[in-house]
Amino acid sequence: MDDEKGKPLFQKVALIGIGLIGSSLARAIKKKALASEVVTCARSEATRNTVEKLGLVDAVYDSPAEAVRDADLVILCTPVSTYDDLAAAMAPSLKAGAIVSDVGSVKESVIRDVGQHLPDGVHFVPGHPIAGTEHSGPEAGFAELFEGRWCILTPVVGTDARAIEKVSNFWAALGSMVEIMTPHRHDKVLAITSHLPHLIAYTIVGTATDLEETDQNDVIKFSAGGFRDFTRIAASDPIMWRDVFLNNREAVLEMLQRFTEDLTVLQRAVRWGEGDVLEDLFRRTREVRRGIVDAHQAGTFDAREPDDELKK
Ligand code: NAP
Repeated sequence: MDDEKGKPLFQKVALIGIGLIGSSLARAIKKKALASEVVTCARSEATRNTVEKLGLVDAVYDSPAEAVRDADLVILCTPVSTYDDLAAAMAPSLKAGAIVSDVGSVKESVIRDVGQHLPDGVHFVPGHPIAGTEHSGPEAGFAELFEGRWCILTPVVGTDARAIEKVSNFWAALGSMVEIMTPHRHDKVLAITSHLPHLIAYTIVGTATDLEETDQNDVIKFSAGGFRDFTRIAASDPIMWRDVFLNNREAVLEMLQRFTEDLTVLQRAVRWGEGDVLEDLFRRTREVRRGIVDAHQAGTFDAREPDDELKK
């Protein structure tokens, strides 16, 4: 609710796409009464049926143009490769003064793809909640997903300040901490904190999969030795992550280059028995982990699961 006026922040919110993130938004908006009406648009009949069965929204459409009619906040919640076509389809139906936002994991390409279609008088405030799980689809969502997590907004210079404030208030009402940064900085920071770790996880699990069958069985059996954590990350949605790497190529390649150089240093330390090099790094990385725990950003992203590490 908008505390000042005692009425919802938005009259009508339209969620374009309703998987993990869209359905979590729908649940949270309803739970916190942030809009008088929440509607969605889903391309597949199966998803539309599931959403209706779960009672997540007030109306489900198969066309983005229908869904956004009269909406004062529209949030794109599909893989980023779909944004260009979806923005083109919905643009003529957007009402003057509407705010368009998104949850995409990259930001420079999104601004390019969506921005070109939006008519004058429609405000674009791109966003990225740093919250998620490896699960997909409308059944995987939950209202608490964004609580205590960061949401990064990347409006371009000149964006209406009131629109930025409204989107910022929206995420704060969902329980998130909001940070505003340039899209370029976002893509660089996320390349090292999210995109590269996913690439590494996909690689390790892929390498293990290519081992001889007998070795593979032992990989599964003894996975608790570190591999297990990589498999969770490598179970993330293939389409979403394909799109991330296709759309944040420069920043990911830059970070990958640095990572490869650092890996070579470690490779050398292992080869030549340079224990001090290894120990020094491992001590520093342990401190990083402690910092993340202290900042309450450790443990599982699923707020419904106990976060043992935080309770210690
Ligand atoms: P998801 O659970 O797989 O849901 C994707 C949704 O997009 C579904 O409603 C799907 O419809 C729809 N969709 C897929 N392809 C489409 C197309 N070509 N045209 C129209 N609709 C299409 O994905 P998600 O995890 O919610 O991710 C959605 C967005 O959130 C992505 O941009 C991602 O970068 C961002 N994000 C994800 C996470 C995360 O951890 N998952 C975190 C932060 C941000 P159907 O069900 O009908 O196929």
